[in-house]
Amino acid sequence: MEKLKGKRALVTGASRGIGKAIALRLAADGAKVAINFNNNQKLAEIAAEEIYQAGGESLIVKANVSQSSEVDSMFEHILTTWDGIDILVNNAGVTKDALVIRMSEEDWDEVISTNLKGAFLCVKGAIQHMLRQRWGRIINISSIVGVAGNPGQANYAASKAGLIALTRTIAREVGSRNITANAVTPGFITTDMVTSLSDQTIETIKQNIPLGRLGTPQDVAGLVAFLASDEAGYITGQAIGIDGAMAI
Ligand code: NAP
Repeated sequence: MEKLKGKRALVTGASRGIGKAIALRLAADGAKVAINFNNNQKLAEIAAEEIYQAGGESLIVKANVSQSSEVDSMFEHILTTWDGIDILVNNAGVTKDALVIRMSEEDWDEVISTNLKGAFLCVKGAIQHMLRQRWGRIINISSIVGVAGNPGQANYAASKAGLIALTRTIAREVGSRNITANAVTPGFITTDMVTSLSDQTIETIKQNIPLGRLGTPQDVAGLVAFLASDEAGYITGQAIGIDGAMAI
């Protein structure tokens, strides 16, 4: 319970999936956690209740991260409640898959706005406070497809590659103020985003994963909690794979 004691964290898209697991893990490690959601208030409340039952503290904040006015209000709420922020996890993400030839401009814009612009807006919301206190952790949830590309996911892969470049730029801009920025690149993780795949597709995927299984949200949360801690203070500008060696 001590590793992140006294730290204040925001996890975007924490109502379910990987974001929820990260919120629960950061809270278990002692941080106060702001649980951001967009549509699923009930699920965000369940995540908050789980944190409370485990003896932790949280705050629920609704915002569509692609809208600057909503992100501004979210930060105003967090900063007036907790008087600062120490850890930002940009996790909110969507997919709108189609081959490039069939991908609509709307679907391109929606995925880039949520996954990439959303992270940029949240970094802007958090960074001034981190600069002032000379301590901060920014962790962006990218994907292995942001490194390798993936047919049918031009918008998503571009957003995830953009997140890596955003991460490295932030690491260079604010490293001198003791703020680290890292990306994590998960492979296939068992959440709503992948459980819609057929059993046959999942079997085929598993055959390409040396560890022989899909990852869990808790696997990703463990890495994020480490990157958020003091122990990871000399790690910055990295894109760290968490994929059962799928990408090697
Ligand atoms: P998920 O189960 O589909 O959950 C997505 C989360 O993002 C939800 O909490 C959702 O909130 C939130 N969200 C979506 N659009 C939002 C917006 N505009 N503003 C604020 N929140 C928004 O996804 P997941 O599988 O946990 O994925 C989490 C992150 O990991 C994503 O960035 C994804 O790209 C990345 N990732 C996932 C995998 C995988 O295999 N699952 C692999 C690599 C990377 P609501 O519930 O309120 O809609």
